Amino acid sequence: MRDIAHFVNGQALIGASGRYGDVFNPNTGEVQARVQLASDAEVDAAVQAAAKAQIGWAATNPQRRARVMFEFKRLIERDMNSLAEILSSEHGKVIADSKGDIQRGLEVIEFACGIPHILKGEYTEGAGPGIDVYSMRQPLGVVAGITPFNFPAMIPMWMFGVAIAVGNSFILKPSEKDPTVPVKLAELMMEAGAPEGVLNVIHGDKSAVDAILTHPLIRAVSFVGSSDIAHYVYQTGTAHGKRVQAMGGAKNHGIVLPDADLDQVVKDLSGAAFGSAGERCMALPVVVPVGKATGDELRERLVAEIETLQVGISTDTAAHYGPVVSSQHRAKIADYIQIGVDEGAELVVDGRDFQLQGFEKGFFIGPSLFDGVTKGMKTYQEEIFGPVLQMVRAESFEEALALPSEHQYGNGVAIFTRNGRAAREFAARVNVGMVGINVPIPVPVAYHTFGGWKRSAFGDTNQHGVEGVKFYTKVKTVTARWPEGDVEDSAFVIPTMK
Ligand code: NAD
Repeated sequence: MRDIAHFVNGQALIGASGRYGDVFNPNTGEVQARVQLASDAEVDAAVQAAAKAQIGWAATNPQRRARVMFEFKRLIERDMNSLAEILSSEHGKVIADSKGDIQRGLEVIEFACGIPHILKGEYTEGAGPGIDVYSMRQPLGVVAGITPFNFPAMIPMWMFGVAIAVGNSFILKPSEKDPTVPVKLAELMMEAGAPEGVLNVIHGDKSAVDAILTHPLIRAVSFVGSSDIAHYVYQTGTAHGKRVQAMGGAKNHGIVLPDADLDQVVKDLSGAAFGSAGERCMALPVVVPVGKATGDELRERLVAEIETLQVGISTDTAAHYGPVVSSQHRAKIADYIQIGVDEGAELVVDGRDFQLQGFEKGFFIGPSLFDGVTKGMKTYQEEIFGPVLQMVRAESFEEALALPSEHQYGNGVAIFTRNGRAAREFAARVNVGMVGINVPIPVPVAYHTFGGWKRSAFGDTNQHGVEGVKFYTKVKTVTARWPEGDVEDSAFVIPTMK
């Protein structure tokens, strides 16, 4: 059995905790490796290595740091195929989707290549007599990222790409379900010229997370995962004096106005609801058609579209999506479908009995469609995170606008319409962090910033873009005076600008 070790100070660190997690191949249901779960001592070893490396790294000029990022980008592109194959074999998403996962992370690395320009400070000449004021952004020191299973390449790169480019060293605690690609990323960073200790990977579960959240040398923690754990991470990390951003779960709605191009909407919804087996925080698991006629026509077309979907192993290039990540997760999705039936929603398409011939032990589940879902239902209020699309019908624009606005999650939302004024009003008023107008998965580009509202994010700084730079740096402001002539009198009152 292959063992997946930690990666500390530029090399594999064999864990001594004696605790392991199983890493499955979701296509076959077999355990393909076991990952070491860190003890506090191993987390501390990583932090000490990171702290040592950070001093020299912060003193390295930003252009040289950017060159490491340029080289890292080249290496990722060189290894794209093999990385995507590994990612798919542990996660279950199809290869093309794994390449998208890596590519979206790489776009943040491209953003980080511009760090010398982005990090430039501010300067005021002559703020007072002989006085100039300038500010600079300095790295925090050792920072950490804790990431979910569903984007094992993109989300680590969102975090360490920016954090390292601005001069921090980084401890990555990836999901224990698909840990191999994160280690490969760290190896490639070393190959790209990052000094040993600048990027370390520690595998683990709650115990490793707690060691990170309480370690006195870690200055900031970025977390992405489910909301209850995000809230816990936010509370524990901030109670220990750390800066924390903690992104949580989601329940994104797609609002379909009567004038929308339904041919396009059906294609967009199908990809956004069922792509990656619905295991995306920006998936669209809720569709809200406005008006009975829109709802009836959409339902008919969705049923026809779902019939064309192919579920297959992650290397099947004809498959639209692959297995979910674990048998427990598949069981949880099936349970939610049953709850939906029990609470009175109409199960129009039932994917629970799907089996892939030759891969009966794989974690596959077919696409499901519900109609008649209402606000009070548990299956509407909670995140299912599977290939299940729920139709909640609305009678008016206002009713449709209220649904995502009042939902506990506020990650993403999309509106489909040909009416620019309605779209504009929707974008301005909806109580959600990321909005798509005829864009089903509105993940902002790397130089903008990613973050939801309400229970989809705790803390007030988003991922990547200038917000990411702010999260991983602190501002220092210098007021400098070069007096000329006679000695000035002592000032016993607070200095003001006259
Ligand atoms: P998860 O919350 O189970 O795990 C996330 C991380 O927390 C992992 O590294 C895991 O090891 C760690 N962890 C697990 N249990 C813990 C505990 N009790 N205490 C402390 N740490 C613990 O999430 P997941 O299943 O890996 O990922 C799916 C979830 O992530 C979904 O809810 C999805 O919506 C969310 N997600 C959100 C975003 C976003 O940006 N908002 C992006 C991707 C995924």
